Amino acid sequence: MSIEKLAEHSLEQWQGIAQRELNSAETRFFINGEYKDAIDGGRFDTINPANRETLASMSAANQKDVDLAVAAARKAFRSGCWSRMAPRERMDILYRYTRLIEENAEQLAVLDTLDMGKPISDMLEVDIPAVIETIQFMAEYIDKIEGSVTNTESDVMHYVLREPIGVVGAISPWNYPLLMAIWKVAPALAAGNTVVLKPAEQAPLSCLRMAELFVEAGGPPGVFNVINGIGEVAGKALALHNDVDKVTFTGSTEVGKLMLQYAGQSNMKRVSLECGGKSPQVFMADMANLERAVEAAYHGIYANMGEVCNAGSRLLVERPIYDEFVERFISEGKGAYVAGDPLDPKINLGPLVTDEAQQRVMSFIESGKKEGAKLQFGGDAPELNGAYVNPTLFTDVNNDMRIAREEIFGPVASVLPFDGIDEAISIANDTIYGLAAGVWTSNLTVAHRLVREIEAGVIWVNSFDEGDMTQPFGGYKQSGNARDKCVESLLSYTQSKSAWIRLSE
Ligand code: NAD
Repeated sequence: MSIEKLAEHSLEQWQGIAQRELNSAETRFFINGEYKDAIDGGRFDTINPANRETLASMSAANQKDVDLAVAAARKAFRSGCWSRMAPRERMDILYRYTRLIEENAEQLAVLDTLDMGKPISDMLEVDIPAVIETIQFMAEYIDKIEGSVTNTESDVMHYVLREPIGVVGAISPWNYPLLMAIWKVAPALAAGNTVVLKPAEQAPLSCLRMAELFVEAGGPPGVFNVINGIGEVAGKALALHNDVDKVTFTGSTEVGKLMLQYAGQSNMKRVSLECGGKSPQVFMADMANLERAVEAAYHGIYANMGEVCNAGSRLLVERPIYDEFVERFISEGKGAYVAGDPLDPKINLGPLVTDEAQQRVMSFIESGKKEGAKLQFGGDAPELNGAYVNPTLFTDVNNDMRIAREEIFGPVASVLPFDGIDEAISIANDTIYGLAAGVWTSNLTVAHRLVREIEAGVIWVNSFDEGDMTQPFGGYKQSGNARDKCVESLLSYTQSKSAWIRLSE
């Protein structure tokens, strides 16, 4: 069934599909093209944050399971079954893979919604299409990766090859379970590597099926493996593994720093990091369309329950338009998100991922109140049996408050006033993060200055959170050191080899 057709399902239909998929959901690891249980029988539960019920008891990996998965990936890499396959054959398999993902969209979508509470409509409109687009984009590039012949003295021939790195350990977060994983896995596979993926323990169900579909599409067993487990055990064992050549990580800045340590403590493996953010949006008084800007402001922080790395959580508003901005945000943003069962296609606000996440966000809200920010709306939870938090707006925030400094990862917006572009730049950059920023102005000179001076990897001008696969996505400063999505990402899963050939013997 097409994704458009799935969008016509009712709540009752989705509830039936959810039950069906849970009854048959796979809970073991996917290693070497087969499902395998944990060697020592380790298990952990995955919980539905919308009703706090246990969804499934999952196999939990320890060192032995990680060893097994890495050995399978190493064997597949060495065999050349994937890395040396003709580029167009590899492309065909990945194209077939995208078709299978589309055909299985119903199952994949419902598993992520159950696991982490994302509205099912977001799965169909955002996550699944983006997963397909990511694989397509990376596949399209496979036979365009080029080496080079360099300009040398005449009796030397020097060429540079681009080769895969080897075994890639991918560690992913729960906020877009399939998509954040495929942002790593697709370029790694396209470049000819083999992969061991460790999804977040809060959303372990869907990636198992995603890996199985790769094999159904003709991908050789052992090329794409998935183990589940607790970060401090399974993730750590993978990142410390001496037979993993690169670790690619998306998650918090705190754990991202550990990845660098693990690499240093083991085999100096390469480390790609996509970490947290505290993105500013700068609204200059000269902007042309306040209505569109305010709309982008509330969607930019409330979409996906605010559980977005580049969420526009700091709204910097120039003083002459401050009151009008706040008034409009309250009148339009307050009711823009409707909480409910995430399987209901009519709602757009699900629960946060866990009860702990809900408590964490509520503690940020308390700190905002204590530190003197003005709570304009929200700050509480709807009367639903789940880890929900209502969309929340604080105004009169200053950049020293905790709500302006730390990543809340929930639907909490902070509005900060400023006077003039210099102050805007100084507040925008006063953070350890540098993932993304929005800039709203109709003055071209101001726009270019803000693009140049804001320390972030992605800057949107007169828009927010737009883009396509050509766009490098990644951070400055402690938001990370890598770029996802783009050709640069694909190339980061390759390494150069220099062949210097003296022609005169
Ligand atoms: P997290 O850092 O807690 O966990 C991420 C992954 O790391 C999970 O798979 C987890 O099991 C694993 N992990 C945890 N501790 C570990 C350890 N000691 N050793 C090895 N692995 C370990 O992050 P999260 O809560 O899953 O995700 C939210 C964070 O991800 C936010 O900070 C968000 O900004 C960030 N994020 C960044 C991007 C980006 O592109 N920059 C995208 C999405 C999410």
